[in-house]
Amino acid sequence: MRVYLNLLSAVIFLSSPGAASAAADAAPDTDVRPVIRKAKEAPMPAAGEVPMLMTRTGEDEKVWISIERPDVAALETDLLSRSPLAQNERISVYELTVPELDELSVRMQDRFRRSPGFFAHDSLASALEDLEEPPAPPARAFVIDQQEKVKPMLDMVKEESIISTIETLAAYKNRNYRSATGISSSKWLAEHWTEMAAGRPDVSVTSFKHASFPQESVILTVRGASEPDKVVVLGGHIDSVAGSGDNPAPGADDNASGIAVVEEAARVLLASGYRPAQTIKFIGFAAEEAGLRGSGEIAAAFKKEGAAVQGMLNLDMTNYNGSAKDIYFISDYTSADQNAFLGKLIDTYTGYTWSTSKCGYGCSDHASWTKNGFAASLPFEAKFNECSPDIHTARDTLAQMGGRAAHALKFAKLAVAYMVETAK
Ligand SMILES: [Zn+2]
Repeated sequence: MRVYLNLLSAVIFLSSPGAASAAADAAPDTDVRPVIRKAKEAPMPAAGEVPMLMTRTGEDEKVWISIERPDVAALETDLLSRSPLAQNERISVYELTVPELDELSVRMQDRFRRSPGFFAHDSLASALEDLEEPPAPPARAFVIDQQEKVKPMLDMVKEESIISTIETLAAYKNRNYRSATGISSSKWLAEHWTEMAAGRPDVSVTSFKHASFPQESVILTVRGASEPDKVVVLGGHIDSVAGSGDNPAPGADDNASGIAVVEEAARVLLASGYRPAQTIKFIGFAAEEAGLRGSGEIAAAFKKEGAAVQGMLNLDMTNYNGSAKDIYFISDYTSADQNAFLGKLIDTYTGYTWSTSKCGYGCSDHASWTKNGFAASLPFEAKFNECSPDIHTARDTLAQMGGRAAHALKFAKLAVAYMVETAK
């Protein structure tokens, strides 16, 4: 695919000196790949040389986003009325300030009920990579043959544990990626998961620090017993928002319910004494609502390290039973092969019903993994347009969902079956 740079914007020269000198070498309507390469190779400026606009504090902090062009047209917002820095047939790249980014998240939710529906990046070079076609994940076999291990574990999955995690997370005023309570909610998760790992030398918990925002992602790792270099990932986002700023945002469904499912799968796997052949990682992602920033950094780091990620399952909104079937697999920006495997897991291990739905560009953290060439899936609580009407408001509480976690429980059982049937 050919991509085009728009060089009319002077902003690029102010904010990103490394990328600017590279971009200046490119003529309009040219292949952008050498520009991306050169921008990535440009040396980072020394501390004393960093121009004011690159400082990471206050209103002038910059981010770069990629967003689909039809969404830009439909949004009709002043935020994107400027010229894009670059674009291809489908996607445009813009520079925004952080307050503009937060405002864009709100507009995307209001207009399309998508959150976020775009990727945000710390650098222009990173954003420009979104103009390239993602590599296809390596082919692998999908076989279901672990019934003896999986079936007793499924009986251990408990609604009460899921409820407890949802209530604890929803009790924070919000879990915004830049708020005090957003920071402390992620620290609580790290401490709580560390307690879960006690007594297991093959289990560790780390906090993944992000350079541009204070909320940390949290990673619980169970080291593979025989093939530790192969990795299976179960993740969901920690953060929550309601509008922009420090508003009450319990985020019980979006996405305490996803973290609760991730944690319940980890709890059951550890409690059963299960030792995976491959390494398994449970991840709470920071800053999903602000452009998939936590998962974006982590998936890119895994790719850079050459991690052999066998599959990734994203849990984002699991507890609002809004449609006729139990589980809906998001079919765009996910792995069709892995989605089919997940459907077979449901048929094999549960009596649940499932179907498919679509959620668009950059709709949740699985998209970060797909973009980096890994097989990723999102089992979702309803058809996309029939999901909880209360997300991103102060009404997104467990009480609003009947005080139960019976719907989320189905996703926890699927997650357990997925991990054991993949990390073998
Ligand atoms: Zn979410």
